[in-house]
Amino acid sequence: MICVSIGRGRHRHVIAEHKHLADNGVRLVELRVDYIQRAVQIKRLLKDRPCPVIVTCRRASEGGRWEQSEEARLLLLRTAIVEGADYVDLEDDIAAKVPRYGKTKRIVSHHDFGKTPADLTLLHKRLATLDADIVKIATMANHPTDNLRMLELVHASKVPTVGICMGDIGTPTRILAGRAGAPFTFATFQEDRVMAPGQIGWRQMRDVYRYDALTAKTRVYGVVADPVAHSLSPVVHNAALAAAGIDAVYVPFRVPAEQFDQFLSNAPRWPLAGLSVTIPHKEAVLRYCRHQDDLVKAIGAANTLTFGPDGIAAFNTDATAAVESLEAAIAEQEQVFNDGGMPVKTALVLGAGGAARAVAFGLKRKGIDVTVTSRTAERADKIAAEVGCKAVAWNSRHRLPYDCLVNATPVGMHPNVDETPYEKDHLRPYMLVFDTVYNPESTLLIKEARAAGCRTVTGVEMFVRQAAIQFRIWHGVDPDPQVMREALKRATASAKLA
Ligand code: NAP
Repeated sequence: MICVSIGRGRHRHVIAEHKHLADNGVRLVELRVDYIQRAVQIKRLLKDRPCPVIVTCRRASEGGRWEQSEEARLLLLRTAIVEGADYVDLEDDIAAKVPRYGKTKRIVSHHDFGKTPADLTLLHKRLATLDADIVKIATMANHPTDNLRMLELVHASKVPTVGICMGDIGTPTRILAGRAGAPFTFATFQEDRVMAPGQIGWRQMRDVYRYDALTAKTRVYGVVADPVAHSLSPVVHNAALAAAGIDAVYVPFRVPAEQFDQFLSNAPRWPLAGLSVTIPHKEAVLRYCRHQDDLVKAIGAANTLTFGPDGIAAFNTDATAAVESLEAAIAEQEQVFNDGGMPVKTALVLGAGGAARAVAFGLKRKGIDVTVTSRTAERADKIAAEVGCKAVAWNSRHRLPYDCLVNATPVGMHPNVDETPYEKDHLRPYMLVFDTVYNPESTLLIKEARAAGCRTVTGVEMFVRQAAIQFRIWHGVDPDPQVMREALKRATASAKLA
């Protein structure tokens, strides 16, 4: 069950949000009365409540906004019990001072905004002895292993336990809490109004992660990166999983480079079935993989892992996706070409990072004469040597015409949407212009290319294709590309509004 925390300054806003949530199927809310800016009227908040509530009044030391005396806080919590609140949240140091009464259930909680304590079991044992109906532990995750320790504690507990790790390293515990056996997880009313670090919105929890459908049998996939919060892969993969009716979830794992080793060695504890791998792990991951497909060996980077009984297997879906995207664009207009072959003979790739390397490699494999150019000349030279193609200086990129232009830099990406890596005066109608940037889909480069009469391929096309190949590797079936495309477009549109 998803418990949505409501923290508003005025009673009428709390009541309105409560009603809105209940009308939308939410079955439990947390009323954060410490957010209310006037004298708290518990009776008013509980009377005619449209769904059950947890009453919580948090001090500043536990991330709350309560500024009055501790006596006043205890009185408020006792009043909530007398008024028949469904649950009250009592921190471990006050649990013994607020006696059980009536039907109100007691959530005995502990918060640690600095760390996840080494001995969680001992802490849990102590909280459970404080006449707890539910134990709640919320601690800061500084290491991905903190998440595992927390989920394992939840799973092993006899007393119902909500165990959550805070911060963006801790996000997986919020999504997987119910799968581990927690009675509920916490989410916010709105994405941008978080009450604890790493919280996510209830709609995202319900619609993207399908929290209530996850069970102990649900297979766990995800994207591992640092940072990871901006990744749109969870939106795309979870939408395709839901549409295909597959019992699996795709979770964002923020794992710093120095913790990657341990994260991978703990894969069986989650257990992880498959991962997308992105910055900064794409190259480092290779030393842990027993099997590498041909593209991984050639490119020297992987973006997809599977976990099997005989070790980790690595795949690279970026290069194939880039080439497939170009081929599809060409096929759409094949009446223009009549020799049946790849009509693109020469290509200029802008950038010399992971995406540029995969694209350059994929195009070269198709027999295209590839040139790379990068702001940092040495990086372009290195890729040229590895791929077996040419490199030109960044300042010379407009000098020669090419059949195909590929932007593999972040130039033009949201929020810098007024930038382009290539001057429009040098675009020619015969060029095929491919921008790997997918947010926004119509970058300035794409718009100017269309205006110049060029054929265009967007980063959305490549993103969906690389995700679709991953999906096939993991689940053995093709996803619905339209579902992925629409999920990506919805997510990029809402990111721009935020
Ligand atoms: P990366 O490894 O960080 O490489 C970025 C490259 O862009 C580097 O060569 C960098 O040059 C260059 N660059 C950065 N800012 C620049 C600027 N202002 N002017 C000129 N060059 C600049 O990143 P990556 O993984 O290759 O990803 C690059 C882009 O590809 C991403 O931003 C993303 O939009 C896109 N991408 C799309 C997909 C997809 O599926 N559609 C997949 C992967 C990536 P320096 O070395 O000089 O910094």
